[in-house]
Amino acid sequence: MVFWEDYVSDEAMGTYAPIVVYWLYAGFYQLLPPLDNYRLHTRKEEEEKNTMAFSGERCFVVQKSGRKQKRIIVQPSITVQVLQIIVAMFVMDTWQYFVHRYMHQNKFLYRHVHSQHHKLVVSYAIGALYNHLVEGLLLDTFGGAMSFLVSRLTARTAVLFFCFAVIKTVDDHSGLWLPGNVFHIFFQNNTAYHDIHHQLQGFKYNYSQPFFPIWNKFLGTYMPYRLVKQSGGGFEARAKKN
Ligand SMILES: [Zn+2]
Ligand SMILES: [Zn+2]
Repeated sequence: MVFWEDYVSDEAMGTYAPIVVYWLYAGFYQLLPPLDNYRLHTRKEEEEKNTMAFSGERCFVVQKSGRKQKRIIVQPSITVQVLQIIVAMFVMDTWQYFVHRYMHQNKFLYRHVHSQHHKLVVSYAIGALYNHLVEGLLLDTFGGAMSFLVSRLTARTAVLFFCFAVIKTVDDHSGLWLPGNVFHIFFQNNTAYHDIHHQLQGFKYNYSQPFFPIWNKFLGTYMPYRLVKQSGGGFEARAKKN
C-alpha cells in the first residue's frame, strides 16, 4: 500500500519520482542560508575553483522506461524488499566503481566525458548530477538498470530505491557537514568522502558511489580523511596520506 497507488502506476512513478526528488532535495539545500560554520569549502573557494556556472547546468537523472500494466503485482515482504535494496545498493556501487575508475584511467573518456563533472571542484547539492550525457547514460542509467535487474526489485520497491539513491547522491555533493545528518552517521561513503574525490589530492581515490567504500578498500583506492575545523568557520576534509 503506497500513497500513489490510486493515481499513477509504479512504472510511471519510477520514471518521474527520482527527478522530482532530485530537484526538491537539491532545491532545499540551495535555499539554505550560507551556513559558513558547516561548509567544507568557503564560498570564495567555490567561486574561484569551480569552472562551471550554476546557470549553465544540465542534469541527467536516472530514468527507466515505463510500461503500463494492469495486472496486480504481489509485493514481497518488507524483509525481502530490504534485502533486495541492499543487493541493489551493492550492484550500483560495483558498477559505478569500475565505470567511474575507467573514466579516470582512459584519457579520452576523461577529457571528453567525465571532466565535465570535475568542473565542480567545490561541490554543491544541485550540481550532484552535473554530468556529460554519456556519463549519465553509462553510470546512472546503465548502473540503475543493472541494480534493478540483478536485485529483482519490483517497480514499486524500485521507486523507493532510486529516490534514495538520488537523495544520497545530492547529499554527497552538498558541501555541508551539518550536525545530525544521518548519512554522515551511517555511511562512510558520505559528503566528506566524496569531497576528497573532487579535490586534486583524492582525484584517483574514492571512486565508489553512492553507498559504500568497499571496492576502494578492496582494490587500494580508498583515501581516508579527517575533518579539520577551520579558524574562519567550517571544516576541511583533509586526506590522510598512507
Ligand atoms: Zn571522478
Ligand atoms: Zn561528484
